[in-house]
Amino acid sequence: MKLKVNNRNGDPLWKKIACKCHTSDIGLKYPLIECVHCNCKRADDSIPTQSFKINQPVFDKQGKFTENKVVEIKEITLTNCDKYGSCIGWSF
Ligand SMILES: [Zn+2]
Repeated sequence: MKLKVNNRNGDPLWKKIACKCHTSDIGLKYPLIECVHCNCKRADDSIPTQSFKINQPVFDKQGKFTENKVVEIKEITLTNCDKYGSCIGWSF
């Protein structure tokens, strides 16, 4: 099932920052060199696209753990970097 992703930055600054990597030399490519473009791209590429399941702990009225319940996560909300607009985290 496709994951709903909220707060995606449609026009992030990092896409306008040129990649500094030298395509002909592996030693001069991200992550061996600092490259804002590739660093931000990697972060955005790591955003999940499909729904996923987690074990959510269930507690009784006394606050005591009773069991783990499997919950399907169908929607996440991104936190974007103020500076470059890339994804720095997400929550559900
Ligand atoms: Zn690069």
